[in-house]
Amino acid sequence: MSLSENLANALGAPRRIAVLGATGSIGCSTLDLIERNPGLFEVEALTANRSVAALAEQALRVRPRFVALGEEAGYAELKAALSGSGIEVAAGPQALIEAAERPSDFVMSGIVGAAGLPPTLAAVRRGATVGLANKETLVCAGELMTAEVSRWGATLLPVDSEHNAIFQVLDAATPEAVEKLILTASGGPFRTCSLDEMRGMKPAQAVAHPNWSMGAKISVDSATMMNKGLELIEAHHLFGFDEQRIDILVHPQSVIHSLVAYVDGSVLAQLGRPDMRTPIAYALAWPRRMSAPVEKLDLAEIATLTFEAPDALRFPALRLAREALRQGGSAPAVLNAANEVAVAAFLDDRIGFLAIAEAVERTLERYAPTPIEGLQAMFDTDSEARRCAAEIVAALA
Ligand code: NAD
Ligand code: MG
Repeated sequence: MSLSENLANALGAPRRIAVLGATGSIGCSTLDLIERNPGLFEVEALTANRSVAALAEQALRVRPRFVALGEEAGYAELKAALSGSGIEVAAGPQALIEAAERPSDFVMSGIVGAAGLPPTLAAVRRGATVGLANKETLVCAGELMTAEVSRWGATLLPVDSEHNAIFQVLDAATPEAVEKLILTASGGPFRTCSLDEMRGMKPAQAVAHPNWSMGAKISVDSATMMNKGLELIEAHHLFGFDEQRIDILVHPQSVIHSLVAYVDGSVLAQLGRPDMRTPIAYALAWPRRMSAPVEKLDLAEIATLTFEAPDALRFPALRLAREALRQGGSAPAVLNAANEVAVAAFLDDRIGFLAIAEAVERTLERYAPTPIEGLQAMFDTDSEARRCAAEIVAALA
């Protein structure tokens, strides 16, 4: 029996999938795997923010029952594009939540930024299996999310490649046997640039990642290495290790996706091509495996894997994220909100590249961390930090 027949038998019926952020990089890779395996998966819902044409085109291809647009302005156009298709159309923040609440077996959380939190939480609160790509959700509301996951018996499957790698090699039953988690980082497009060179870098250069093809925001995060800082916080919440037990190792080839070091000296790693369809396939088929159309890893051809320590001076975002995690409470949410505002300003060419980390640091300085009790307190912190970061960004422009 083939792998795919085996999986089909194990699943019984096709697994029903909702894809939040369907038109993005993670969303498109998820749909690619689904469309290659029509017997294994069916689509319940798709969402996008404002990409009406792309969402309509996807919907006509994969025939979900429901599509939702974050921004209400595109509703009429989407409705017209899907008229006669039988696909239900809705728009606005509540529609995104509905997409997550509908009865699917698996929700891919692929929205970018803290905007992904409400629908991801809605999926968790109906006890769904959630493939988590949207790391900002765990950065700004980690404690709340993990508490809700246990309360509702939901399952969070890490899709971020580093966390997916750790999930694959971590012996979760014996955390005391683990010395460290080691997150690998490519170092981004400016790994070898001087601070002076980095100062003049433009958005097009920052989004040109050497190994991965991703959305604009995460690409800029990779260039500042804030991405690795956010991933450090994400790893803390997913696996329960404190900040001192999570190392960051620069590995420019992006072949080793992360490692777990055990107390007996063993170090286990997961390797693969830098193609998100591997961790997405792992999550979609979990606890089994499915094949993915990913180029085979040819280590003889790659020949050399290299490693270096991250440079704290040129990449201050790593220090800021560690400090925010140590401080706890509202600090990670403030870090995330300020970073979203600063990255958007950089992508609009309003501030320079080095001003991103500077704006985040200045915003963090304005807030003494406070405990976050409940979702509303988290949203209040998020909006307040965005307002403050916007002022700081305007002053840096
Ligand atoms: P992207 O920009 O390519 O796509 C984002 C998706 O979210 C789009 O469908 C967009 O319509 C939707 N969206 C954007 N803003 C929204 C809003 N305010 N409300 C509702 N929907 C909104 O982003 P991406 O690169 O696919 O990344 C998505 C998430 O996955 C991010 O959190 C990122 O950090 C994480 N991630 C991405 C990759 C990758 O390879 N792209 C790898 C690891 C983790
Ligand atoms: Mg990652």
